[in-house]
Amino acid sequence: MSLAANLADLAPHAEVRVFEPKTEEERDCHWSFWGSGRHVEALKPACKGTWKRWQLIDHEKKVVHESVAQNYITLSASDYLKLCKANLSPTIQLVRNAVKKIDYKNNVAFLSAGDITYTAAHVFDSRPPEKKSGGMMQHFLGREIRTKEPITESDTVTLMDFRVDQSRGLHFIYALPFSDTHLLIESTMISQSKEPQQWYLETIDNWLNERGISVESDIGYESGVIPMDNCQPQDSRTSAIGAASGTIRQSSGYSFNYIQQQTKQLAGRISRGCYEVPTPISAKLVFMDRLFNRVLIKHPELSVKLFMQMAGALNGEQFARFMTGTASFSEWGRVILSMPKTPFLRHMWSV
Ligand SMILES: Cc1cc2nc3c(=O)[nH]c(=O)nc-3n(C[C@H](O)[C@H](O)[C@H](O)COP(=O)(O)OP(=O)(O)OC[C@H]3O[C@@H](n4cnc5c(N)ncnc54)[C@H](O)[C@@H]3O)c2cc1C
Repeated sequence: MSLAANLADLAPHAEVRVFEPKTEEERDCHWSFWGSGRHVEALKPACKGTWKRWQLIDHEKKVVHESVAQNYITLSASDYLKLCKANLSPTIQLVRNAVKKIDYKNNVAFLSAGDITYTAAHVFDSRPPEKKSGGMMQHFLGREIRTKEPITESDTVTLMDFRVDQSRGLHFIYALPFSDTHLLIESTMISQSKEPQQWYLETIDNWLNERGISVESDIGYESGVIPMDNCQPQDSRTSAIGAASGTIRQSSGYSFNYIQQQTKQLAGRISRGCYEVPTPISAKLVFMDRLFNRVLIKHPELSVKLFMQMAGALNGEQFARFMTGTASFSEWGRVILSMPKTPFLRHMWSV
């Protein structure tokens, strides 16, 4: 949908069909990313929260970042997809059907969806990547609640609170205060295997109890598994975009910014007659993220420290740039200097 919305803007007369079997409501969840005031303005109808302060906490310290230029933005996925849909042009249409099969003949693609076969000169494929067993992943369960009493620090997002059970892998609480009585709390793991649902829920309950936060009512639940490894597209004959093309940062699981950049660039290219999908994340960044994950796997005892030291080495603006892949050479230098050297040097050759 992001590509279709960008095409409507940059190539409004292109003949495009977007195949999506799920409704916006069925796809609803929270999508967060760092963005400027311009992003907040453009995405206002889908914004559920914006913050200028975020924090990471472990048993020893708290790293709090504040930013003037950058916002941590949370969108309702459903409202974002509706916004994209509302921006489509008359020749760019949504088809509420799954593609069952794609055949190629003489460089023309034949897509079967519902009872119709569509022909296409170009296919951009954002179906989720192949699932890989044993790979690193971020898996989580979130609970959205209304609280009985107003909570403190409702102007601050908790990106990672590591003061939870670390016995099964890197584990943290992610908490978004949409207001002082409206909170999303996610129990999030970065590891190679999922946990039973009850385990995430108990973590959330304990975290709320320890902070004296009582639940007035439940608003909803959401869960997800985000691959943090190399992603393989489902069909090597089509041009993969989105997660299947590698838009997910392997060290953090964030992809929204990269999908926006990729689809905007691609729409610009298509408007000029070029159909090559832009590489979403540079090879250097992919290498650094894979090295980071390698150290996490091989040295789980260092995991919390790595995230805390990385955040502690940067201020708010620098951290936001680091997370969105736009950090400068010197900001990279700060992060590298803050990391323990021996494990990184040892695993450089096995990435
Ligand atoms: C609960 C949850 C919370 C998340 N939070 C964040 C976040 O805060 N920040 C962030 O950056 N990322 C977040 N993510 C990850 C993010 O959602 C994904 O990385 C991103 O959606 C990938 O985009 P995509 O377009 O490549 O694929 P998807 O968004 O997965 O879209 C793939 C689409 O393909 C459709 N499809 C599947 N099969 C077919 C078929 N045969 N024919 C036609 N269509 C088909 C599906 O219905 C789906 O809509 C979250 C994920 C989840 C599940």
